[in-house]
Amino acid sequence: MRAVNLLDFDLDALATWCAGLGEKRFRAQQLFRWIHQKGESDFERMSDLARTLRDKLGQHARVQALLPMSERRSADGTVKWLFDVGGGNAIETVFIPEEDRGTLCISSQAGCAVGCRFCSTGHQGFSRNLTTGEIVGQLWHAEHVLRRQLGLAAGERAITNVVMMGMGEPLQNYAELVPALRVMLDDHGYGLSRRRVTVSTSGMVPMIERLREDCPVALAVSLHAANDALRDTLVPLNRKYPLAELMQACHDYLERAPRDFITFEYCMLDGVNDSEAHARELVELVAGRSADAAPGLRVPCKINLIPFNPFPQSGLRRSPNERVLAFARALQRAGLVTTIRRTRGDDIDAACGQLAGEVRDRTRVHVRLQRRREAEAGAPAQAGGVHA
Ligand code: SAH
Ligand code: SF4
Repeated sequence: MRAVNLLDFDLDALATWCAGLGEKRFRAQQLFRWIHQKGESDFERMSDLARTLRDKLGQHARVQALLPMSERRSADGTVKWLFDVGGGNAIETVFIPEEDRGTLCISSQAGCAVGCRFCSTGHQGFSRNLTTGEIVGQLWHAEHVLRRQLGLAAGERAITNVVMMGMGEPLQNYAELVPALRVMLDDHGYGLSRRRVTVSTSGMVPMIERLREDCPVALAVSLHAANDALRDTLVPLNRKYPLAELMQACHDYLERAPRDFITFEYCMLDGVNDSEAHARELVELVAGRSADAAPGLRVPCKINLIPFNPFPQSGLRRSPNERVLAFARALQRAGLVTTIRRTRGDDIDAACGQLAGEVRDRTRVHVRLQRRREAEAGAPAQAGGVHA
């Protein structure tokens, strides 16, 4: 029998597995705490587990951590790990320390199949979904390494917030994501509140609806454009799930969400989506006055503007600071809570959209993107157009 990786299990799955060994749920809880709260991977050191259980664990299970290839530290304290996940793929995880919190940005896939135009992960194509153990393994590694490095006392946490904003589209890896979220939230695991775990999606409408039922955590939606014509060119998933459906899903999500707003992320691209007219259009969209969404459907939200982080081959530029500020002011004047994301860790390529790891593309997304860029170069007006 092949040894199972206990990082693949949420507490219910671990309890079921332990029951198969003839062990009570209480034992599973103890084991879960050793793994996630104490960061222990050696069953022999789990001193309050019976010898018979430790022997069984030694035979049938392991705690399979990720293999770090590098750990880089930015001047601003941001830390980036590169993990080898086999088959020529590597993924990235970023820790962003702030005064009152420590946020871990976690990857959900090796690559991404959505292929957004402004995202370096998207340009690399897609190799495979990460397993629950590989998603949780990023948190396990970061939390316990940082605790040691920062010399934290027992019970102190290095990571207080998790954002699923690394490589990949988390809602295209739903089956592996949800157990991982449960480990993060579990009191016997990392004990993070639902408000402090954020799933960021480019707009997988059916999975937003399922997440609302299965595990409603904070939701961020990568909007980037407030009309379908423009969003189609930036986020290809929009052709499948246009704004009307996305806004409805966001609205409905709030019935169960731990926060009373959706965060809309908006990457500021010079000359593409950053004019005063685009700002007005965004205001109209969330207020339920856009022709591209259901009339009257208001979505309570906060807007997070992300200055574009350039990478080679994107063919796009970051909006100038004055334009980002003017855009933010226009939204604020209309009553929308708006923040501008500070760029962190760009000296180690750890900023939003710069996570590229190493991906053995199996989808030839990069070829499609290249073709699309060439086609658009022949019709440049569309990308910058504002929907009337
Ligand atoms: N796939 C998910 C989560 C990962 S991307 C999503 O798209 O939401 C995390 C965030 O980084 C998204 O808001 C994404 O739009 C943004 N992003 C991607 N590339 C970027 C870039 N080059 N500059 C700034 N932000 C970028
Ligand atoms: Fe994928 Fe998100 Fe990048 Fe789009 S922005 S390509 S959905 S990781």
